[in-house]
Amino acid sequence: MPGLSPPTLSVVVPMFDEEEVLPLFVERARSVLDELGEDYEVVAVDDGSSDQTPVLLQTARRTWPQLRILRLRANSGHQAAISAGLARARGDWVVTIDADLQDPPETIVEMLEAARREQVDVVYAVRTDRSSDSAFKRSTANAFYGTMRRLSSGTGPDDAADFRLMSRATVDAVNALPEQHRVLRLVVPSLGFPSTTVGYVRDERAAGSSKYPLAKMLRLSLDAITGFSAVPLRLATWFGLGGFLVALGLLVYALIAKATGHTVAGWTSTVVIVAAFAAVQLLCLGIMGEYVARIYSSLQRRPTYYVAHDSLSPSDRSSTAP
Ligand code: UDP
Ligand code: MG
Repeated sequence: MPGLSPPTLSVVVPMFDEEEVLPLFVERARSVLDELGEDYEVVAVDDGSSDQTPVLLQTARRTWPQLRILRLRANSGHQAAISAGLARARGDWVVTIDADLQDPPETIVEMLEAARREQVDVVYAVRTDRSSDSAFKRSTANAFYGTMRRLSSGTGPDDAADFRLMSRATVDAVNALPEQHRVLRLVVPSLGFPSTTVGYVRDERAAGSSKYPLAKMLRLSLDAITGFSAVPLRLATWFGLGGFLVALGLLVYALIAKATGHTVAGWTSTVVIVAAFAAVQLLCLGIMGEYVARIYSSLQRRPTYYVAHDSLSPSDRSSTAP
């Protein structure tokens, strides 16, 4: 039975409707972790699944005492689910890993070794081969990481997602951040703890389908950009300056045309100019709206997730992180 003293390693696994892959994950992760020879807990964060995931987790727990189940009240998203797990994980080291076996559990052993050998706080698992992802996923991921590198003054390794090992100090630092919609793959590097990387080959999802539809990917990108950069806000200034120059050119053109007696037959050009400027203005308003919405939601300080149940302390039904 897991004791009350904190384990050496916590493995945080967010899961949303993962009934198909869950038995495979349990079997493979357990054999790796039992072999490790360290005291560990697996914090399965059930992100409001509506399929058999909670039932399967309960069943697995009967024979796997190190499995701890954290159930969120509603589907709160991948990043919020990881945050919930980080807030409650007790280990000296904490690994976050996907449930779909795209991140091989065997790499955890290397990550822990690397952390101890090189005496670092963070070990990023870096994808050395993405051929198992679809071409669409790869190109959108490249665009995402490229944009983020440019916007967020380039911290952290490329091609590292949310498969990483963190020391207790790092996890405490992450938990202490007041930021609401944290994009952890950018937040963790920005904390500046000593780090190293371990390469791994990203496998195919072992079963089930992706829980990251395009809408969720866009949301993550927007959170990442607005969380780490004010560059888009400055776009309005550049658009404004550009528009001013265009307007100046048009003014000169109109004056010359008038002076030389060729008055412009104006309808088409007027409509195009008005429409173009209206579009740019709306775009800038929209960008500002994204930031204002985030300011608003961070003022409300509403938690991004609510914990319904923690199998470690079943009576504790507190709504948020400790
Ligand atoms: N996930 C989650 N909540 C969500 C969406 C996804 O906890 O709202 C989990 C999911 O169960 C998986 C991990 O996040 O363990 C990564 O999701 P997925 O593998 O579907 O994303 P992809 O690899 O397709 O980007
Ligand atoms: Mg996946």
